[in-house]
Amino acid sequence: MTEKNSTTIRNSIIVTLSTGAIHALVTYLIPGGWGSVFTVIKAVLMWLGSTSATYNWLLCILIPCSVMLLGWTVMALFANLRSSDNLSSLPKQMTFLGVVFRWTYLKNGHVNSFASFCPMCDFQIYPQPSSTYKALPGGVYFCENCSWQSQPFDCTIPQIENQVLRKIDHCLREHERQQNDDHRKLT
Ligand SMILES: [Zn+2]
Repeated sequence: MTEKNSTTIRNSIIVTLSTGAIHALVTYLIPGGWGSVFTVIKAVLMWLGSTSATYNWLLCILIPCSVMLLGWTVMALFANLRSSDNLSSLPKQMTFLGVVFRWTYLKNGHVNSFASFCPMCDFQIYPQPSSTYKALPGGVYFCENCSWQSQPFDCTIPQIENQVLRKIDHCLREHERQQNDDHRKLT
């Protein structure tokens, strides 16, 4: 017998034994044997091709898409909550010229608006020019509720408001620096 014939016979035996083993396994593991395997495959194909309100194959596409959409929505919701948490940890108040300033944030973390309050009675107050002549700079924050008066400032009202915004910005940078220092100490 040549070596080629011997290899061919060995391969045939391996194929026959493998086929027999798979057949025996299917017959042993699945009660109905091959018949039930084909029945299941046929049922799946029929289900995919059949219609309920719509084609089932369409449902097979739509259901994973819906699951992905739901997952994306949940992730977006968590991201939004995390962003709200981050915003809630940012400072929202500082004192300047003796006046209490409070502000709010936009969702992107930028300062939205600020307001000034009396440090004695927490009444909302506004800057007022110290002179009736508009050309002359200078003013104070005055509380109409308890007559409290701030330290005077020697610039115009738009200038003092701009200064307050820069002070808020500085306050936020200081806070960020402090957070980074704390984080560095922990790591
Ligand atoms: Zn007051």
